[in-house]
Amino acid sequence: MKIAILPGDGIGTEIVAEAVKVLKVLDLPFEMETAPVGGAAYEAAGHPLPDSTLALAKAADAVLFGAVGDWKYDTLERRLRPEQAILGLRKELGLFANFRPAICYPELTHASSLKPELVAGLDILIIRELTGDIYFGQPRGRRTAVDGHFPGSEEAFDTMRYSRPEIERIAHVAFQAARKRNRKVTSVDKANVLETFQFWKDVVTEVHAQYPDVELEHMYVDNAAMQLVKAPKKFDVVVTGNMFGDILSDEAAMLTGSIGMLPSASLNAANQGLYEPSHGSAPDIAGKGIANPLATILSAAMMLKFSLNQPEAAARIEAAVQSVLSQGLRTADIYSEGTRKVSTREMGDAVVAALTGATMTKTIKG
Ligand code: NAD
Repeated sequence: MKIAILPGDGIGTEIVAEAVKVLKVLDLPFEMETAPVGGAAYEAAGHPLPDSTLALAKAADAVLFGAVGDWKYDTLERRLRPEQAILGLRKELGLFANFRPAICYPELTHASSLKPELVAGLDILIIRELTGDIYFGQPRGRRTAVDGHFPGSEEAFDTMRYSRPEIERIAHVAFQAARKRNRKVTSVDKANVLETFQFWKDVVTEVHAQYPDVELEHMYVDNAAMQLVKAPKKFDVVVTGNMFGDILSDEAAMLTGSIGMLPSASLNAANQGLYEPSHGSAPDIAGKGIANPLATILSAAMMLKFSLNQPEAAARIEAAVQSVLSQGLRTADIYSEGTRKVSTREMGDAVVAALTGATMTKTIKG
């Protein structure tokens, strides 16, 4: 098994180093190879996704990605900006299914802006279709309006579209994921207004016939946005299109209040995947050694589960993360009174210690 390690920019290098440390102590038969991506690759090779990095990602079973971006690249032409690397990898690897779990650890319920009883024990999974919808639909552009409310004026337009195979494959992914969880799928649409999402609803309903053991409910996106903050624990798996998923997955992430804890995965039809924390490169804290590495470490656990067929190793990492939280160790972003503040490296060391059974006397002592 081969893992491409793409640390990227900002805190990306710091948090990926901790995840690599954790992967190494598992003593599993995989090979890891590192390559630059994003701003780091632009500096080194003049492009955010150099051919050599793309070739490595394509040849690997999985990609562990840190984060890309820095405000200093905001003036570059669009195709050279660090964020283009993620879009390029999604396209080249055919990553159509984005998994964003939102889990609220009992120790961190205080970090949520919702009442603790609403989020304690929260464990939901948002599955977002990643390669279609209005973000990629053609035609798009600017032109002079020939009709509408203001004919003859300048206008801009995009095209929302989904084909049957695109909806079918993401629906299968959602039903299969639900089978490994609480067997409930909520398909989010806007079928009352949009033709594209009436079609989405019809196709998801058809695919559901193959999964009689999984409950399916349909929900309009506006209602889903409300229910996520009113009663988020009612959900299990939520499946939706690219644009609604973009918005709802960020909303769900915020339910937990701790962006530094949230992993993500983007998979293709062959279960090859790109695994990354849900947050960005955090240039404001880069180089300070205070970033939370747990989202990246948990992304590595998702990688072991989904792409490398090592569910036991994934469960060991998840248990180790739970254990360091129970021990009261916190990076600055999740720190609260009565807990012990640790650095990025100390947090990684503590996860390694929890995995290997070693004691972290120096770190844990208050
Ligand atoms: P961000 O997620 O990088 O940071 C938002 C806030 O959360 C900051 O205050 C940051 O310090 C904090 N934060 C993020 N991750 C943290 C962690 N692990 N531990 C502790 N605190 C953490 O979002 P932003 O500031 O809007 O974007 C910064 C850069 O990241 C931009 O260039 C943006 O384009 C890029 N970005 C990249 C990705 C990606 O690589 N997938 C995703 C989002 C943003």
